Amino acid sequence: GAPINASNIDSLSQHFPLCMKNLHSTLRQNSHLKHFGRLQYTFFLKGIGLSLEDCLIFWRHSFKLITDDTFNKEYKYNIRHAYGDVGGDANRRGRGYSPYSCQKILTEHPPGPGEAHGCPYRHFSIDNLTSMLQATGVNERDVLKGVKEDVEKKRYHIACNRVFEWAHKGEIKKVKDDGTWEAAELDTIVHPNAYFKRSYLLRN
Ligand code: SF4
Repeated sequence: GAPINASNIDSLSQHFPLCMKNLHSTLRQNSHLKHFGRLQYTFFLKGIGLSLEDCLIFWRHSFKLITDDTFNKEYKYNIRHAYGDVGGDANRRGRGYSPYSCQKILTEHPPGPGEAHGCPYRHFSIDNLTSMLQATGVNERDVLKGVKEDVEKKRYHIACNRVFEWAHKGEIKKVKDDGTWEAAELDTIVHPNAYFKRSYLLRN
């Protein structure tokens, strides 16, 4: 599969859960993301194994409308900080911060107008959620209906797992039939980075 580096993020985004696809496409549309979106996305990118150097290149290239000077002054420090390269207590230094779990994304800092962080299953209207799913290729009526029911019951991560299982049904069947994956490796996903990792491994 595609190596994890700054120039492959567009292609790697096929493995992202909807929360991170939304951040990625908003970043591509606006050449910018607001504060909490940058945090959620930077920690996730760190979690998929993107190096600090590549993460800095990725953000610098993505923020097309600002100068190097502005980037260095206003954004670079926070990215280095997320990776534990600067600041923080001794504990965090060299390690940085953990990527956000679904639990954290679902419960903290709900997105306001113009913000793209959060979880689309929880924070989008059902119409916007359905449109976004369809735009990412999820077009089977039963799946969309299942998602709607999950969301109505506030089982947001179940909706996300439903979409994962549908989108990877061929690969999942194969590893089950071949016995190459333990059942535990197909447990319910409760972390965006687990979603990425499983998709990346299944498709490579
Ligand atoms: Fe992201 Fe978790 Fe929401 Fe899925 S359930 S979109 S991984 S926050």
